[in-house]
Amino acid sequence: MLAPYAAHAASSRGRRHPEASPANRSEYQRDRDRIIHSAAFRRLEYKTQVFINHEGDLFRTRLTHSIEVAQIARSIARALGLNEDLTEAIALAHDLGHTPFGHSGQEALNECLHDQGGFEHNLQSLRVVDVLEERYAEFPGLNLTFETREGILKHCSPKKARELGELGKRFLEKTQPGLEAQLVNIADEIAYNNHDVDDGLRSELLTIDQLEHVSLFSGRYQEVMRRYPDIPPRRAIYETIRRMINHVVTDLIENSRRRISLAEIKTIEDARRHSEALIAYTPEVAEQSRELKRFLRQNLYAHEQVTRIMGEAVKVVHELFESFMRTPASLPPQYREKLREQNETREQARIVADYIAGMTDRYAMREHARLFPDG
Ligand code: MG
Repeated sequence: MLAPYAAHAASSRGRRHPEASPANRSEYQRDRDRIIHSAAFRRLEYKTQVFINHEGDLFRTRLTHSIEVAQIARSIARALGLNEDLTEAIALAHDLGHTPFGHSGQEALNECLHDQGGFEHNLQSLRVVDVLEERYAEFPGLNLTFETREGILKHCSPKKARELGELGKRFLEKTQPGLEAQLVNIADEIAYNNHDVDDGLRSELLTIDQLEHVSLFSGRYQEVMRRYPDIPPRRAIYETIRRMINHVVTDLIENSRRRISLAEIKTIEDARRHSEALIAYTPEVAEQSRELKRFLRQNLYAHEQVTRIMGEAVKVVHELFESFMRTPASLPPQYREKLREQNETREQARIVADYIAGMTDRYAMREHARLFPDG
């Protein structure tokens, strides 16, 4: 079933700590299973995507977002003959390194670590699967395959890339990752563009009138209203979003298939060596997708009601960080121990950042209330 240019487990670049092959699963299924059993994966349930977890039960969380990314990515992988197990593993792991409180949380933590190497959620996802999960007797982290780790690491500065060895190489040589990794990157964008329209309308921070100026939405919405003039508003929105996803997914599958064939890609190594990403939209749909992204950035992510709550979140992250750096005794025992083994401030700050980044929204609030009882 697998296309020749897909990732084949038999020719995997392997794991950092060699292990015998699993008996009744593929290597990439094993990766997926380890990700699902990790603590970081369970915490995604209580981490903000755009809306803080307690704002409503129907909004996306990092967990439901990751599951939607996996669903979209797997459908496309199957259509293109790519490796579904690897695709699913990358999708479920892609946001494991996110801090509490979404992008505001990550920016706040990045500021805290300004002089200590900074904080970047993408690199943190890799750190979670490589070191921070402590579940197995024989190795640190989840010991995932090279291909899953390659997919998790979407971007990387040249300096970090040099530290990462083989995994960082492509950022220095400016080559591509395998096709499954390219695919999950776009499936992530398809998922959030569409579910943020849904959540934005549900929260009433966005209106249909506004969205009628966005071509990806308006084209589909007019189709729906023409065909079902008496449809109730909520169903019209769902029907529109379903058509939006279909529209971009179909374009992506057909265009990528064409590009792979034109470039005569025969193996995953051909795909890695190719000068640009092969999993890509046509220019028209790429532009529609950029337009929607811009719209969401200006009207939803920067909405006063979203940024006001996030302002408080930034304060929580800063105060937690300063407090733990000042008084390591208030850290949980396992972090206190790790901190004691380090003499450099840089290393100590990294351990505190690991602790904060791992927190769910509500756990961060609770820790903050414990350390700052007067608010
Ligand atoms: Mg994501």
